[in-house]
Amino acid sequence: MKKISVIIPLLNEEGNLKELYKELLEVFKGLTYFDSYEIVAVNDGSTDNSLNILKNLASQDKNFKIVSFIRNFGHESATSAGIASATGDAVVLIDADRQDPPELIIEFEKEFLNGFDIVYGQRKKRLKESFLKKITSKAFYPIFKYLTKVDMPRNVGDFCLLSKKAVNIINNLPEKCRFVRGLIYWTGLPKKAVFFIRRSRGAGATKYNYTKLTIFALENIISFSTTPIYCIIFFSLFTVFGCIIGGVTVLIMKLLGFVIMTGWASLMLCILFFFSLILFFLGILGLYIGKIFQEIKNRPNFLIDEKINFD
Ligand code: UDP
Ligand code: MG
Repeated sequence: MKKISVIIPLLNEEGNLKELYKELLEVFKGLTYFDSYEIVAVNDGSTDNSLNILKNLASQDKNFKIVSFIRNFGHESATSAGIASATGDAVVLIDADRQDPPELIIEFEKEFLNGFDIVYGQRKKRLKESFLKKITSKAFYPIFKYLTKVDMPRNVGDFCLLSKKAVNIINNLPEKCRFVRGLIYWTGLPKKAVFFIRRSRGAGATKYNYTKLTIFALENIISFSTTPIYCIIFFSLFTVFGCIIGGVTVLIMKLLGFVIMTGWASLMLCILFFFSLILFFLGILGLYIGKIFQEIKNRPNFLIDEKINFD
């Protein structure tokens, strides 16, 4: 018996769960290698009717399992909890909002059988997403890749299939601050893209606004890379060099009898510019200190209220 585990992290998705479940059951029928399944729905502190709907599904289907958090701990924690609870020979991560088409899992299975440990859905096109969201997500991938050297493909969400090997590596990583997608590609395991057109959300609204997305992007870069610190150091060397050149020039001019006392406005601009830059750099260093702080507290990433249909 070969089992596939499907992990669904969810927060307030009452309008999508039944449909997604139905779609998944249809897809399982089309799989050739995996002949059994489990669905692990991770309820990330939903305040709507999601948990009741999940419990209803779990009462009808023993392969429908629930991990329910005491409160909202965030998408990354919910995904991590799902991966840690999965018992299948491969794990599929899928969002609850029905943006990821479940039928792609059939293609995932084919590439898994071709020997790829990571098979990911790569978006050809995003439907009904704002211009700003498209632009910002386009910008994130090259910046992340450049700064972290992690070969994370573009236009990829969490929708993917992971082999047992990949799952074991991720589960055994000791770090608390987790950007699951980054960790998946950080492993360097053989990976393969399956292209798809991302559907627009089923019911409900996105849980990520622009502030959250910006914080998310910064936190993830900081978790994977110390390059920003090197950038600060190199930049400071560059300004020190500029100061030396400027200082020597002023000295020579003074010795030659040129008096240069004008330029109050440019001086103020310079001071303001470098003052802002120093604050910005302090902010970056602060982010690293914040990460260390979070790690050393060593608190769990989530608190489980109940688990249903686990042996
Ligand atoms: N989600 C979650 N916890 C959160 C926020 C989101 O489990 O704190 C789930 C959400 O229910 C969905 C998935 O994570 O299944 C992706 O969230 P969303 O669709 O809001 O993100 P987007 O697709 O807009 O990036
Ligand atoms: Mg979504």
